[in-house]
Order: sequence, then C-alpha cells, then structure tokens
Amino acid sequence: MRPTGRLHLGHLVGALSNWSKLQDQYDCIFSVADWHALMGEYENASRMTEYSFEMVLDWLACGIDPKRAIIFIQSQIPAHLELQMIFSCLTPLGWLERNPTYKEQLREITSRDIQTYAFLGYPVLQAADILLYKAQAVPVGEDQLPHIELAREIARRFNFLYKTELFQDCDAILTPTPRLLGLDGRKMSKSYENAINLSDSEEIVREKISKMFTDPKRLRLKDPGHPDQCNVYSYYQIFASEQTSAVHEWCTAAAKGCTECKGILADRMISVLRPIQERRQAYASKPDVVKDILKEGQQKAQAIASETMQQVREAVFKHEL
Ligand code: SF4
Repeated sequence: MRPTGRLHLGHLVGALSNWSKLQDQYDCIFSVADWHALMGEYENASRMTEYSFEMVLDWLACGIDPKRAIIFIQSQIPAHLELQMIFSCLTPLGWLERNPTYKEQLREITSRDIQTYAFLGYPVLQAADILLYKAQAVPVGEDQLPHIELAREIARRFNFLYKTELFQDCDAILTPTPRLLGLDGRKMSKSYENAINLSDSEEIVREKISKMFTDPKRLRLKDPGHPDQCNVYSYYQIFASEQTSAVHEWCTAAAKGCTECKGILADRMISVLRPIQERRQAYASKPDVVKDILKEGQQKAQAIASETMQQVREAVFKHEL
C-alpha cells in the first residue's frame, strides 16, 4: 500500500479488514510501498517518512499483527529495484500502455503530473514486489486486477526466457466488498478529496457525511427516494447492514428526510471508527515500539529477498563474476 497520507474508509473496507483476516490463513507480508508513492508524489517526497509512519499506525490500529505478519518499508529493501530492472527489460511497452488503470489515472488525476516513465512502469515494480517474495496470493482492490495479471505475464515471460520455473502464478484475493465509493460517488481516493479518513474526528465525520451525494431524484422531503441510486444507502449496506430494510422503507415511503438518514449513518460510522482511533493513539504514544516492528520486518523481508535474487541472478546470467 502506498503511503500517500492518512488512510480512509476505502482502505479499511477494500483492504485492511481483509488483510486482518488473512493473517489467520496465510503467512502475510505487508509492504509500505514508498517507491510507488514517490511516482505520484515526487514533488512532495519530504513527507514520505511521515506518511509511512502514519500509515503503519493505521495498519496496526486496524488489526495488522506484527507477531504474525512481516511489516516493512519497501525502500529499505533495494532488491525490489534490482528485480524491477530485470523485469523492465523483458516487459513489452504495449502491456503497460494498454493497462486500463494507468489510462484511468491519467484521465482522473489532474492535480499532479504523472505522465512519467516511472508511472507507466508502475506495474513492473509491483510485479517485482510480489515475485521477490514468491507470493502465492495478493489481496487487492478491483482496480488492481490488471496489475496482478501483468505480474503473472511477467513471471511467465521470465520463466520462458530463462528456462526456469522460479516464479509461479499468483492469485488475486478480492474482499467481499471490494469498492466503497467516495462522498461524491466516484472511487474513494485522497486524490479526489472525497474520503472519510480513519483518523477523522467525530465533527469532521458528521460534516463529510452531511455533504454526501444522495438520490438525485429526491429533491423534497415528500418525494419518495430510490435507495439503490443513493450512495448513503450503499454505506448502510456496508457498515450497518441490519438497518438496510428500515432505511429502504423510510426512504421509499418518504418517511424520513436525507438529513436525518445521514445523521443516523454518521452515528454508526463514528462507532465503527472509535475503537480504531483508540488503538491508533496507543501506538502513536510509543513510536519506538513501531520503529522496532519495522526494523524486525525489514530483517525478515531482506532474508527472503536475498535468497530470491540469488536465484534470479543464477537464472538470468548463469555465471556470477
Ligand atoms: Fe439516500 Fe437516505 Fe435520502 Fe434515501 S433517505 S435518498 S437512502 S440519504
């Protein structure tokens, strides 16, 4: 995950709640992808360390457990770049230019210049991130599926060219609720300024929810609404599923107005966020503990990465100098 600032509800629903459960089934490795973040934020790189730390606090607050998982910062393992370099050589340009996520981001992100060589090659670094640890599965959002497919293609091409079976196919793991829309109905993203952050205060959560887009056809209180066309309702479905039939009824019967409906949702969201914020505060008050967690993660990740790169060099160059 890229450290581009404090995490939001989209990260919780689309990734973190899933990651937390995956720790029961898999040996998990979670990387702070600061080199990926640099591709979009190279003009604000001085904040990367702060962002990385803040994000790890959010991870720990959401249940990522350093006793069961490896947590590390990507830029502390240079082997990611070595493997990316080798993969870059064998990745046809067309694979990257056709990538739908890349095209969407070029269209949607207008506040920063991302028309760079590195940004086009984003999925190549991602393939290196995955294959360096020979991951069997990667938990991703829907928008990342093309990148996982590219990682598979790169792995197959590497194996074919160097006559090896070093890399296996990796699977994508999607959460049951992979996509939470932002306040304005677009994908939730810090770049679009339409997110509720995990660390937002009660007051800010209420204010943001009060501005959410609703059913555009419900203009007056007495107009019956169409919950299936309302983003507020989709939040109920994710965060307050036991209330959805009641919401459906009061909306279609015009028994409650949107302001009241949003107020009830805000109460729920605040109760979802409160325990996360309390855990976050506990870690934030002990920064040395968090630094030790990252140091231990770096050592464990480095051990795996070194072994893979030894095998990669043997496969590519056949002889060491
Ligand atoms: Fe949406 Fe609730 Fe308003 Fe219905 S009452 S349109 S579900 S905000």
